[in-house]
Amino acid sequence: YESTNYAVVGNIGVGGFGTVYKGIQISLNREVAIKVLHLQFTEMPGFVEKFQSEAKILATLNHQNIVQVYDILNEEGTYFIIMEYVKGEPLKTLMERKKRIPADEAVKIAKDIGNALRYTHSKNIIHRDIKPANIIVTEEGASKVTDFGIAKVLTEVSTSFTRVGTLIYAAPEQINGEPIDTRCDIYALGATLYHMLSGTMPPTNQPPLPLSSFKASIPAILDKIV
Ligand code: ATP
Repeated sequence: YESTNYAVVGNIGVGGFGTVYKGIQISLNREVAIKVLHLQFTEMPGFVEKFQSEAKILATLNHQNIVQVYDILNEEGTYFIIMEYVKGEPLKTLMERKKRIPADEAVKIAKDIGNALRYTHSKNIIHRDIKPANIIVTEEGASKVTDFGIAKVLTEVSTSFTRVGTLIYAAPEQINGEPIDTRCDIYALGATLYHMLSGTMPPTNQPPLPLSSFKASIPAILDKIV
């Protein structure tokens, strides 16, 4: 892909929605992340219109715990999301590496996600797909939420979106296709916090085991919070 505005300088990874590259925004000489959306989504009828209108809403978001979207581009039917380049590690791989995240670290991450959600929920924007793969933990230990808007657009254009992603962190009403509100993000944050602290996926059909059964030193107050 050739552009006078952006140059790709490296590969970052392939995700469920797209392939992410490291790039440079030439005019400002700043690092950016470039997500090229998979054609299987962008070719869905209605996707492009919905995505463009959603991007205008996302452009109004500016928060230290949200990956900033700088621009969206459409080149011959391929969609690019130009965003803030975040030097860090996805929470998903951090969890796989560490098995269990120490309570103080997990609480810090959950607080950062909570701050991002308080901000977006006050604007009536629901993420709909809060999960460890959508959180990047920076080298300084701050967490940033990514992929705002994508789940919303996919839910609207596809009846099979839920099968695209994981259901582990999704609220029951979301899995059942019932009306949702901002609480589904809070449920997903609770499920993510449980997974970080216990090292196991939150159960979907029964009450979770107390966190102290995984590690005795986890404070009981965290059970209530989760
Ligand atoms: P999903 O299933 O939600 O798509 P994923 O993490 O597998 O999750 P992507 O979000 O597409 O997929 O991310 C692919 C890779 O790119 C991951 O390693 C992610 O951390 C990285 N990445 C995504 N956005 C950025 C960014 N703005 N800056 C730096 N790296 C990023």
